[in-house]
Order: sequence, then C-alpha cells, then structure tokens
Amino acid sequence: MYYCLCCVYQTLYEKPPGTYFVCPICFWTDVAQGSCTISELRKAQLNYVHQGASNKEWLAQVRPPTKQDYRHPQWKLLDTKIREDGTKVKNLIITAFNDVQREDGISLHEADLIYKIYDRFFGYNSSRDRQLLAEAKVKDVETHWQEISAPTLEKFCSSTICFHLDQKGWKYYLPAYLLWSVNQYIYNHWPEMYFIDVVDSFLLTDTYYPLNYEIEDFEFFSRDEYLAILSSEQLSAICQFLHFGLTYEWIDEIYKKNIKNFIQDYCPMR
Ligand SMILES: [Zn+2]
Repeated sequence: MYYCLCCVYQTLYEKPPGTYFVCPICFWTDVAQGSCTISELRKAQLNYVHQGASNKEWLAQVRPPTKQDYRHPQWKLLDTKIREDGTKVKNLIITAFNDVQREDGISLHEADLIYKIYDRFFGYNSSRDRQLLAEAKVKDVETHWQEISAPTLEKFCSSTICFHLDQKGWKYYLPAYLLWSVNQYIYNHWPEMYFIDVVDSFLLTDTYYPLNYEIEDFEFFSRDEYLAILSSEQLSAICQFLHFGLTYEWIDEIYKKNIKNFIQDYCPMR
C-alpha cells in the first residue's frame, strides 16, 4: 500500500502520483504529476486537517481513519515543511548576501526605463535619455536590499527589466528577489510563477544594458559573467533556493532541466 499524498494514510494500491484513485479518508483524487500544483495539494491537506476532507464539498463522502489505517509516524504537513525549509533557505540567502551594498549600479526604475528605451529599437537620444535615467535612478531610495518593499519587487518582477541590470545592480537585487520568491511559497497560494520568473530573469537569461551612454549602444552580457562575481557561499545559497523550488513545485520539464544544469554548472561541491 502507498500513502495518499493528501492525508498521508496508506490508502493507495499503486504508487502515486497518477493512479486517479480517490482516497476514502480525505477524498483527494491522486491526479498525475503536473495536473495539479503543489500549492493545490498543500491547500487540500490543510482542508483535510482543519475541515475533515480535502475539499469541504466531499465532507459527506469521507470516512474517518480507523485503527487499521496506517500513517507514517513522522509525517509532516506540506505547509509545515514549506515554512521550515523556506525559512532555512531565507536564512542562507540573508547570511550570504548580507554585506552586499547598493553601489552605483543600475536600479530598478532605471532598468525599467532602459527597457523602454531599448524597446524603441532605434538607439536613444543621449542627453535627454541620460537626464531621464538620472531621474529614474533617484526613485530607488533604499540603501540595503532587505529594505526594498514587496510591492516594489512585484511591480518590477518582469524578466524584461532584469535583462537590463548591470552586474552591480543585479547582485544587489538578486537576493531581494530570491527572498521575495521564497516568501511567495510561504505566504502565497500560487507561488510557482514567481519562482520561474525570478529564476528565468536573474539566473538563466543573458542581459543587455547600455554599457556606455556615450557610445549610445547596448552591450550584451552572458549570465556567466555575472555569476562569476559571486562568492561560493552566495552560489551555494542560490543552489539551495533552486533545490527548494524543485522540491515544492511541479515545474515544466524544460525548466527543470535548465535548473538542474545550472546547479551542476555553478553549485560549489560540498
Ligand atoms: Zn487521503
């Protein structure tokens, strides 16, 4: 017998996920991987614990567990595991990036404007754009990445903007976004899109920004060049963050492969 993924009693005759068996104790349907998110399963588990069924519409169908029903003595709610593991990952990020200061790198408002300039395709008006970029930069007032508000991070969480951070800006905003993404797992019921957005824009995709305002052109940088400036402790924290995402999300196979390759390429041997 196998454990039901929701109530964690041994009610399945075949190995989950994907048996499509409906558990008699919690009435969770064991759907195939990818047919529901970890968040949905986590919610169903909380429903079972607090209300008695994976969804309250099934309350009349469920049966209570009996002495014959076996549950692993060390089982933990997915919700508890996500909070515990998420807190560990957050602490690793905070420790590894604590000394990262805001220097004179490209800021979020500035990157947003660079994206809009880049979008015009025909280069840019040097003096006017420099003035606008300077005005955009002063809109970012925080001096430490932990002070950046969640609404600000959410507003600028678009891969297009992250494409335009230079190394200093990237290193400054990276831990803020990693932490914010873990918080989405802890507090938000639909965290997966935030995880993928952050991973894709900060870790997997190359970048463009105006290298020199005088040459009026955009320079291309590969992510390798960015990742090379991180310490092994910082890379290790990133890898723990990625493991956390891989554990708690049923991610698209292509992304999963890219993330695993990243871990293989960049994670310090322990
Ligand atoms: Zn069950």
